[in-house]
Amino acid sequence: MIDPMTVELEQPRLETLSPSRAGDFKTCPQLFKFRAVDRIPEPTSIYQARGTTAHLALQRLFDDPEDQRTPDRLYDLFREAWTEIRGEDEFEGLFEDLEAEREWGMESMALLTNYFSIEDPTSFDPEDRELDMLEDLDGIVIRGILDRMDRDSDGRLIITDYKTGKAPPEKFALSAFFALKIYALLIRNRTGETPKEVRLLYLNGPTLYRLPIEDRQLDAMDGQLRALWNAIQRAMDNDRFPTRRGRLCDWCSYQEICPAFAEAETD
Ligand code: SF4
Repeated sequence: MIDPMTVELEQPRLETLSPSRAGDFKTCPQLFKFRAVDRIPEPTSIYQARGTTAHLALQRLFDDPEDQRTPDRLYDLFREAWTEIRGEDEFEGLFEDLEAEREWGMESMALLTNYFSIEDPTSFDPEDRELDMLEDLDGIVIRGILDRMDRDSDGRLIITDYKTGKAPPEKFALSAFFALKIYALLIRNRTGETPKEVRLLYLNGPTLYRLPIEDRQLDAMDGQLRALWNAIQRAMDNDRFPTRRGRLCDWCSYQEICPAFAEAETD
């Protein structure tokens, strides 16, 4: 449950923006405010716990020699990662009992099995993993963690993002690339190379969505980010963050304190 008393009453200032928070503002400015300005903690779900643990396991799989990157090794890495982090505060009380936790673990293993139907981790070595990006785009500072970057056989860069949630239908997939296009822009800014492609790898599907990248798309994203940064700055200056009700509200942790729903209740 969200506790409105945990709101931090600091003077808001936009110093850096992550691709995820930029996406929040685009989706619903009020959601951005709850997360990035008020910093109201959200309860961790079993799906987020799975995502965090699976990301750790997939990242570490590539520490091993190529011929040892097997499904069994990935399961072991998942179990090890969960053992490491399950005691952290954010995961406290996540499961009713050990049986529920075991079931969650079994479902997680099934998802990890899907990974091997999308790509063969014994056939390549990533260029980078969990890459901490902090780039200043002429006064706009963007920060985020990029899951993985590879080079294809022509030496071109490919950016991949792992998703443990359900893959959206193809017609909605384009908007899911928003954050990855920002990462492609950051990579171009840092290295001078334009990535060839960005990929969304959904374990739950399993599905791989690919989007070829060209400089003009990244130029457009640069302009979009600048407009978004200015809009966020104006919203902060005026303390005005409109609500935008939509499909996402059903999964929004803040619904019970959201003005859009408070207004609806008093109608
Ligand atoms: S419940 Fe809906 S309108 Fe309210 S903050 Fe969340 S996404 Fe925005």
